[in-house]
Amino acid sequence: MYFKYCLFIVVFIISIAGCNRNNNEESSSKRVDSISTMHYELIIIGSGPAGYTAALYAARAGIKPLVLAGETPGGQLTTTTDVENYPGFPDGIQGTEMMDLFQKQAERFETKVEYKHVEEVDFNTEPFILKCEDETYSADAVIIATGASAKWLGIPSEQAFNGYGVSACATCDGFFYKGKDVIIVGGGDTAMEEALFLSRLCNKVYVVHRRDSFRASKIMQQRVLNSDKIEVIWNHQLDEIIGDTEPRKKVTGARLKNTQDGSTKEISVSGVFIAIGHQPNSKIFKDFIQMDEVGYIYVDGRTSKTNIPGVFAAGDVCDKVYRQAVTSAGMGCMAAIDAERYLEEKKHLSK
Ligand code: FAD
Ligand code: NAP
Repeated sequence: MYFKYCLFIVVFIISIAGCNRNNNEESSSKRVDSISTMHYELIIIGSGPAGYTAALYAARAGIKPLVLAGETPGGQLTTTTDVENYPGFPDGIQGTEMMDLFQKQAERFETKVEYKHVEEVDFNTEPFILKCEDETYSADAVIIATGASAKWLGIPSEQAFNGYGVSACATCDGFFYKGKDVIIVGGGDTAMEEALFLSRLCNKVYVVHRRDSFRASKIMQQRVLNSDKIEVIWNHQLDEIIGDTEPRKKVTGARLKNTQDGSTKEISVSGVFIAIGHQPNSKIFKDFIQMDEVGYIYVDGRTSKTNIPGVFAAGDVCDKVYRQAVTSAGMGCMAAIDAERYLEEKKHLSK
């Protein structure tokens, strides 16, 4: 009898402790079924400048968001070296270090970060459902900050020298090639724009294009063709990037292959810019969210609102024009404010 009484007391204490723990977590998250659905008021998909800025603003508004960091925690800037154009860092900063600071600042205000990749969403139900490999989450509001990825040619030397002479962003990295010779691969508007940008900094810019005419708009083509700093190499593909690995990694040239007759030639350059397009990371949302034919998410005017109330978008995933860390961070701020107002209104209506 005495043993049964003790057992009852122990079980009672354990269950009270469990209740208290759940209550403490309730304001930010709770399990909505007994197996594995965690509920949050706000889930942010993506941990680049847009995602962490959204988290910082939401967390400071008392929302306690969850950030699902994805396969590139910290986003695109973790694939580069120096970032010199983000305000507040007069001496520049390494991309990885900057994104660590973004994360720390968001976590300081009770942002939770999980290193998970969202594989599937259902935005037709409320709350919204987000499925990762081993966990399902639900949320009252979602911010999509999944960024965009530059398209690469896929040749091995491109990856080997990425960040050491190879880049997909002239606005970001062009400054490092001041007074030097560079090539840019592509024949669309991005390639034209980047070539013109580089022509203001570099000694010589070669535009390497695989065909004998550009895809870019006429006006952009004309500007490139009129520039005496730019030389177009038609009907050529970048075959391999040539460089040194010792004493430090650097690009010294490029081997080009004629797409008509297969012949090759080498040119001497210090930088290689790949500008063959970007792919927004929005595929998993396409059944629910309106986007253009490439996959850039449409937002409503100067807001972060998508076509689904409660789902917001920020950063490169909805921006094919600027694609900068600072603009993405700004959009992350806007999305958090939009989400906060949405959640507030929702609470008000349910009273
Ligand atoms: P991203 O930084 O692309 O982050 C996207 C995030 O979403 C990642 O964390 C990823 O893991 C996550 N994600 C994607 N899909 C999923 C999913 N299904 N589930 C969960 N998470 C997901 N800009 C500058 O201003 N200055 C620079 O110097 C500069 N240098 C650059 C150098 C390079 C080499 C590159 C590639 C870009 C550079 N940029 C620079 C551009 C800048 O990095 C981007 O504009 C910016 O990172 C975009 O931020 P974002 O938050 O929208 O997306
Ligand atoms: P894009 O228009 O798709 O052009 C990509 C270019 O890269 C094409 O010339 C293509 O060659 C080439 N290319 C693709 N894959 C290649 C490969 N594997 N090897 C070699 N070359 C390859 O992409 P974008 O230039 O990024 O432009 C995207 C959109 O944004 C467009 O609608 C563009 O008008 C718009 N944009 C506008 C502006 C502006 O108005 N100022 C600036 C930037 C972008 P092919 O031509 O042979 O296919």
